[in-house]
Parts: sequence; C-alpha cells; structure tokens
Amino acid sequence: MDAAFVIALDGPAASGKGTLARRLSDQYAFAYLDTGTLYRGVAWTMLQSDLDPADEARAAATARDYDHAAVEGADIRTRAVSAASSVVAKNPGVRAALLDYQRRFAKAPPGGVRGAILDGRDIGTVVCPDAAVKFFVTANAAVRAHRRWLELVEARPDLTEVAVYKDLLERDARDAGRADAPMTRADDAELLDTTHLSIDAAFAAARRVIDGALQRCG
Ligand code: C5P
Repeated sequence: MDAAFVIALDGPAASGKGTLARRLSDQYAFAYLDTGTLYRGVAWTMLQSDLDPADEARAAATARDYDHAAVEGADIRTRAVSAASSVVAKNPGVRAALLDYQRRFAKAPPGGVRGAILDGRDIGTVVCPDAAVKFFVTANAAVRAHRRWLELVEARPDLTEVAVYKDLLERDARDAGRADAPMTRADDAELLDTTHLSIDAAFAAARRVIDGALQRCG
C-alpha cells in the first residue's frame, strides 16, 4: 500500500483548526485525530484521581498507561482540564508517551482510508515532519477568545469573555514557550489567518493546497 497522505494542522486554541480539520476529513474521507484530546485525556485522568498535573513523574506514568477509549464521553473541555492539559503537555515524558499513538494513526489511518488529518501544536514540526501538506491556522487572540467564550457561555452563563481571554493567553504562552515541541509554524506550513477569514474561505484555501498536492502525488 502507498504511504498514507498526511495533512498536519497546527495552531493555537480556537483558531478554527478543529472545524477546518473536521470539514476536510469529511471532504476527503480521511481519518481525523484531534491530538489535543490526548493531552486533555491525560489531564482529565489525573484530575479525576486528585493528582497534580505538574507532578512530572505521575503525569508521565499516567500518559504511559493512558487508554484513550477509557476517556470516551468524559467532559474534557472544561476550563480546568484545558489549563491542566497545557501543563502536562510541557512534560517531555508525557509527550514521548503519546507520540507513538499519533504516528501510528498517521501511518496507518483507521478504517484503511487513504489519508489522515491530525491537528495539534507540533504535528508539522515533530509528529509528522514529512506530512504531505501542512497548515498553521491562527487568528488574533481577542477574536479567538470571543469564539471560545461563545462556545462555553451557554453552559456557563457566569463565564466572562475576559476570563476566557486570560486563559487563552496563559495557555498560548505555555504552549509556545515550552522547551519540548513548542507550538510553532513549520517552515513549510501554509499560514491560514482566520481573524478576517470565514471558515468557508479558509476551507476553500486549504482545499486548493491539498488538491494541488494530491495531484502531484498522482
Ligand atoms: O487543541 P487543544 O486546545 O484541545 O489542546 C489542549 C492542549 O494540549 C494544548 O493547550 C496543548 O498544551 C496540548 N497539545 C499539545 N500538542 C498537541 C496538541 C495539544 O501540546 N499536538
């Protein structure tokens, strides 16, 4: 079998990369892995057991024993889990433990489909540096905070947009500032700035790049 066609989508929280990844996976019938769910799952597992996400040895052990299926259905999108996920993500032991799963997914996408889409922070730089197509999806922080607040406020009417903005800035700083696999744009990644770009326009732009690459692959 030919190598899977891999699309890497990186970028900060609420940049629109998840929505884009889901639409692209429908469009091309490629398997989709939201790699943030792995870090969230490890963080959630620790919080459930009252463990401190900053405890490096415990976090690495939790990641090594981690069973993604066991977290199915858990609420991993809370503010507490979001913050804890970027704390465990700083830990090289956690990153190493989760790397294999992501690479296997990219190499042999579930369902035997032709391609895989992975979104995260380090897909184009570390997990799949040889991806056929790479995007770095971003938007200005205030716009991202507004989007995230709109997603959360219905369930949490007391949540202010300012609090969401602060959370995002803190998480961006931790993700971009860590020593191991920091969030950064790969040199060969296409930049998609969704500050003023609708999701339809971003989708169309991404499709042009992917269609070109698929044609070159034959
Ligand atoms: O993408 P999402 O916001 O769900 O990711 C949660 C956290 O997981 C991020 O803030 C980041 O710290 C971590 N993460 C990572 N590398 C990835 C995906 C997520 O460090 N590839």
